[in-house]
This record gives sequence, structure tokens and C-alpha cells, in this order.
Amino acid sequence: MPRVIDPPTPMHSILRVFSYLRHYPGLAAAQLACAVGMTLSVFIFPNATGHVIDEIIPQPARHGDFGFWVALALAGFLARDGLNSLRIFINNAFEQKVIYDIRSDLYAKIQRLPLRWFDNRRTGDVMTRVVEDVTNMERVLIDGIEQGLVAVLQVLGIGVFLFILNPSVAMWATLPVPLLAVGAWIYSTCGRDRYRNQREAASDLNALLHDNISGVRQIKAYAAEELEHDRFNRHSDRLRQATLRMMRWWALYSPGMSFLRMTGYVLVLAFGGGAVMRGELTLGDFTRFLLFLSLFYEPVDRLNQLNQMLLSGRAAADRVFEILDAGDEPNATTGEALPRPVKGHVRFERVSFSYQDQPTLHEVGIDARPGETIALVGPTGAGKTTVLSLLARFYEATSGSITIDGVPVRSLSKASLRGCMAYVTQEAFLFNGTVRENLLLARRDAGERELWDALTAAHAEPFVRALPKQLDTRVGERGVKLSGGEKQRLSIARALLKNAPILLLDEATASVDSETERLIQDALDRLMRDRTAFVIAHRLSTIRNADRIYVLDRGRVVEEGTHDDLLARGGKYAELCRKSFLAAEESAGCQA
Ligand code: ADP
Repeated sequence: MPRVIDPPTPMHSILRVFSYLRHYPGLAAAQLACAVGMTLSVFIFPNATGHVIDEIIPQPARHGDFGFWVALALAGFLARDGLNSLRIFINNAFEQKVIYDIRSDLYAKIQRLPLRWFDNRRTGDVMTRVVEDVTNMERVLIDGIEQGLVAVLQVLGIGVFLFILNPSVAMWATLPVPLLAVGAWIYSTCGRDRYRNQREAASDLNALLHDNISGVRQIKAYAAEELEHDRFNRHSDRLRQATLRMMRWWALYSPGMSFLRMTGYVLVLAFGGGAVMRGELTLGDFTRFLLFLSLFYEPVDRLNQLNQMLLSGRAAADRVFEILDAGDEPNATTGEALPRPVKGHVRFERVSFSYQDQPTLHEVGIDARPGETIALVGPTGAGKTTVLSLLARFYEATSGSITIDGVPVRSLSKASLRGCMAYVTQEAFLFNGTVRENLLLARRDAGERELWDALTAAHAEPFVRALPKQLDTRVGERGVKLSGGEKQRLSIARALLKNAPILLLDEATASVDSETERLIQDALDRLMRDRTAFVIAHRLSTIRNADRIYVLDRGRVVEEGTHDDLLARGGKYAELCRKSFLAAEESAGCQA
């Protein structure tokens, strides 16, 4: 059962992002030290200027010190920017380490998620979360710590200093601050949806793009380019609108806040100027005030921008944590191991299952003794693939029991369960990598000899030898550079290499020439030998060789027996057999 997660509180996601920082206390401390040092060095220039105006310029006897104060002012800026450079270096290293950690956690999590989770997700959306959203949420860290911290320190430090210098002028100068705070609060509480919508629109566009690029052949084949372009433009327009909605508010908010800040300067001019005229404030202190005020409001401005970052970071973080909080596959990391040696006795007892509301399998019973070949036949949609998926525990059966050598698959660890089976799917999927990498997926420690033996047994050796770099030839995205029959044989070789006691095989329906067909059939026979094999069979020869046939119809086992028994019975199987193999010379085999 998926864990039920409390809806995140507004700051929840952000605090969780910060929890990733605790692994790097040294970097955090170094960054903090730089930030404090920078804040302190900011005080030098206004104070030096105030001192020059009040103490040096009016007293010719002290003009000799002038150079020292100018140099001091320069040193202040040098220190500030030097420390800033160091801080950026540290921050970048820090940030990249944290991004790496979050991505790694995210990927590990994605691998533990049940297939059901993927059924309801678009690939492009998941990709956007791992690649873009992680970076976006990370900006909360860069801007939150790097700029936010410096800004807060500077605002507090200078604020206190202003009040020490002249409390009444300081009060006027900081009058706009509460208004700025209220403005920021309103912007961030009302803005959350706008930012979330923008992230979702971006993700939608990515998902569509991913789909269309994967399906480029179909789009071309159906001359659907214009239609798809329209669809792309519609999604793209949604992103444009969502971004504009976000930016429109920013266009009001940012200058509005700027205006409020500037009223602070005008207030200082009015009341500070008045105080100078009344002799309550020296000209030097007045200048100091103005200089400090710019240093006071400049980080306030940065905090405002930070508010925007936080909003978009929070929207991204919510999307990332939604993945991290999803429930794992049961026994993804725990569970028992199968007793060795695995014999491969598989039993389904009254197994029922549904993907959604409609039942897909109903009280299915199958008994496959060690070494037997079990053929599953039935019309499309009968539930044959689902039977294999339940055995591999890609999905969990709703009721009933599935056991291997008497142990319920439910209690087995995923590693032990999947370690004892090889799955050859109908459409052979090859990863974008070399032939070797694709084979080693089955057994990482396989040596050169074993690889070639498997290829030979799968009748894949001759064409792999003919490849430009043999085992080290890249087979391209989805193995497009190989023919269908070649890909099938490579995936059979992969399963042979795994040498698992249980085999799940979904025979390819795509027709190949008769010579290739013979080679594939021969390779499959070899693959099925001496192991318990479940075959979704499409070839009559496979079915005839099976020890037992289970005929599925609308999720139920309607007949069971050998080819000859079932033909003699003249039921569903006999009918299916006649219909499926009508055209083939094999149809003669369907006569009882
Ligand atoms: P078969 O392999 O016999 O053609 P399947 O086992 O693939 O049949 O499918 C059985 C039924 O379950 C079909 O009606 C199919 O539409 C449905 N189905 C298959 N996979 C899913 C899924 N991931 N989510 C929802 N329904 C599914």
C-alpha cells in the first residue's frame, strides 16, 4: 500500500531541501564565515566617508591622514569582493554536491517505485523533475543561503547601526520596511499557484516533446507533422501564458517594492536634511546615513528577488518530494531469499488481479513443475502478459497465492525473485550502448567466452562478428541499427547468459523470413530447455512442444491440457487454433 503523506505545509518542502545541507558542515561554515566577513566589510566605506567629511576636510592639520582613509575605503571594497568571490566558489561546490545527492536519491527512489506508479506518469514529466526541478529547487539553496543570508545579515547590521547613528532619522528611513514585508507576504502567498502552474506547463511540454521524438517514425508515417506541430504549439502556448501570468505579477510587484524603498530615501532627505539644518546632525553623519541607506535597501531588494526564487523553488521542490514520498514496491530492499538450488516449481492458486476497477484476472490457477514448458494462449487482452507480470511481481496480485518452490513470491526479496527469472519481452529492448553492455545486464561478471557462447547458442554470433567492432559496437537508441530478428536473438542471448531457472517469454508476433524464424525457434528451444518456461505463445510449434497449455479468456483459465487433448475437446482452443493459424501451412496441425 502506498504511504499516505500529509499535504506539505508551506515551508515544509523548503525545510526539507535544507536538510540536505547537513552533510556538508564544513562548506556551510566556510560560506557563513565569508558572508559575515562581507557584511562587516560593507561598513568601511560609509564610515570612512563620514569621517573624512566631519574630521579631515574641516581640519587642515589632519589632511595628511586623507590618503589613509581613502586607502581604507578601497581596502573595504577589496575585502568585500574578495570574500564574495571565495563565497561563490564555495557555494558552487556546495550546491553541486547537494544537487548530485538529491538526484541520486531521486534516481534510487525511481528504481524502487512500483510499475503502477509509471503507468500513471509520462516519461517527460519524470525527466523534467529529475533534471530541471532539482536544479530549480536548488536555487532555494544558492539564493536562500548565499544571498538570503548575506542580505539578512546586512539589513540587520545596518539597521542597528542606523538607529545608533540617529534614532529619529533611522525611524523615518525604515518606515517603508513593514509595508515591504506585507507586500512580500501577499506576493508569496498568492503566487504559489502561478509558479506551480508554470512548472506543470513546462513539464507538459517536455512530456509531449519526449513522446513525439520517440514516436517520430509514426508521425512521419501518418504524415501527422502539422497536427503534431499544432499540438506542440498549443502546449507551448500554455507555457507562454503561464510564464506571462507569473511575470505580470512580478512586473507590478517588483517596481512597486522599489518605489516603497525609494520613499525611504526621500524621507531621509526630508527629515535628515531638516536635522542638519537644525544642527542636530553633522553633514558627515547625514552622508553616512545616505550611504548606509543604499546598503540597507540593496539587500532588501535582493530579498524580494529571493522571494520569487523561493516560490519557484518551492513549486519545484514539491514536485521532487512527491516522487521521494511515493510508496516503494513491497520488498524492494527487504524480503527472504529463495532456498538454493532453485528448482522452479511455480504455482498460481486462485489468483485475481485488477489494474483499475475492472478485474483483469479471475481465480487463475496454473501449476508449472520444474523444467516444464507452459504455453499461455488466448485472444488479445485475455490477461496472458498480466500472468507473467504478476509472477515477476511487477504488480501485486489482489488475492490468491503465487509460489515458487513453495515460497510465496510476496515474501521474497526483489533481488532473489528477479534473480531466478529471465524475461524475454515481445519487442526486444536494447539500451543505447554496446552489444557487450546490453548482454552484461544479465550477468555482470560474464567473461568473453561466455558472451560468445551465449551468442552462438542464440544464433546471434555470425551477425555480431560481422559488426564493425563486434561486441563493442554501439547498438544505438533502441537498437535501431539492428533488424527485428537480430534484436530478438540478442535478447535471447541475454536470457541464455542469465541462465535462470525460470523463463518468462513473450514470443514475438512480428513476422520474419523463414530462415530467421527457424534460427529464432531453434534458439528459443535451447533457451526453454531444462527450465520452467512460461511462454505467451504465438507459434504453433512452440505450443505443440509445450507440456501444458492454459487457455485464457477474459481473465479466466477456460481450458487446460496438451495440444492434442485440447484439440480433441473441440472447444475454445480448437477454435483459436484454427483462426490463428489459418493461413499458415501449420493450420494442418489444428485438425484433431
Ligand atoms: P494479453 O497479454 O492477453 O493480450 P494483457 O495481460 O496485456 O493481455 O491485458 C489484459 C487486460 O488488462 C487488457 O484489457 C488490458 O487492456 C489491461 N491492461 C494491461 N496492462 C494494463 C495497465 N498497465 N494498466 C491498465 N490496464 C492494463
